[in-house]
Amino acid sequence: MKVVALAGGVGGAKMVDGLAMILPPEDLSVVVNTGDDFVHYGLKICPDLDTICYTLAGIANPKTGWGRDEETWFVAEELEKLGSEMWFKLGDRDLATHLERTRRLNRGDSLSKITRAFCRKWDIKQDVFPMCDEPIPTKVLTEEGELSFQEYFVHRQFKPVVKGFRFVGIDQARPSEGIIEMIENSELVIICPSNPWVSIGPIISLAGIRESLRKVPVVGVSPIVGGKAVKGPAAKMFKELGFSPSSVSVAKLYKDFLNGFAIDIVDKEDETSIKNMGIETLVTQTVMRNREDRRILAKEVIDYFVRL
Ligand code: GDP
Repeated sequence: MKVVALAGGVGGAKMVDGLAMILPPEDLSVVVNTGDDFVHYGLKICPDLDTICYTLAGIANPKTGWGRDEETWFVAEELEKLGSEMWFKLGDRDLATHLERTRRLNRGDSLSKITRAFCRKWDIKQDVFPMCDEPIPTKVLTEEGELSFQEYFVHRQFKPVVKGFRFVGIDQARPSEGIIEMIENSELVIICPSNPWVSIGPIISLAGIRESLRKVPVVGVSPIVGGKAVKGPAAKMFKELGFSPSSVSVAKLYKDFLNGFAIDIVDKEDETSIKNMGIETLVTQTVMRNREDRRILAKEVIDYFVRL
């Protein structure tokens, strides 16, 4: 069964890891948010893409969910001694990814081509696509003015109150080559439990993506559990933008293309409101605390879809 997953970073990677455990690799493709990408020390950094790839390659840091395993921090330590700003820490192994990606971008390779090449080197059998090749940096509109995404997320630890988002250049950008056809030819699209505003939001704002999602079966997993985000600012963003942080609010953002939605057992009372939007529901344990949880949730989502 051909499955396409739309994913951000950590929440997305957990779901993708589960799917990779149960689907043959040629049946799973992943489209990854690049709105968080930025340039630091002159290096192009793609946090979500790297989190997904490191996870699929089995070389992700098991404690943080992002960054490399067996990481060392010699470069960061020396940078700190030199008085460098240390709000975004880059490990030594991770740095190699950014160095080589930047070198290839500078010689004119596209981000999709580089990602394909890295996946081969890391022995990743699934297809992984950045959502597009052009940079579309997410700007966070806050009460303290407009901040770049990493400034808001890492440097300011998502404290500023959010008023909205801007995906710079989204109107001119095209989805990576082949993505639209891949979605339209898939048997199922899974919207991972990723931040709806800044991880899934940029992907579905790209020209043609929403329309293609309306043509195929789409099942999502809610990133909001019991009114809270499992991690990160998703719930805080809903509140600050004037919505209640709930699975229902997430479903509303996706309702024009969502056929089924997996919500957590603690949110069982949301089921009726979601069904009333014409979306089927799967109520289950959605918090993935370990790899076995990832596998079980992925299997449940696929089985549920087959039943549908
Ligand atoms: P980021 O780019 O690293 O912030 O990652 P994502 O956008 O992929 O994921 C962030 C979202 O994933 C947050 O809203 C979390 O609530 C959600 N999330 C993370 N882990 C889990 C989990 O185990 N289960 C569910 N249901 N949501 C999760």
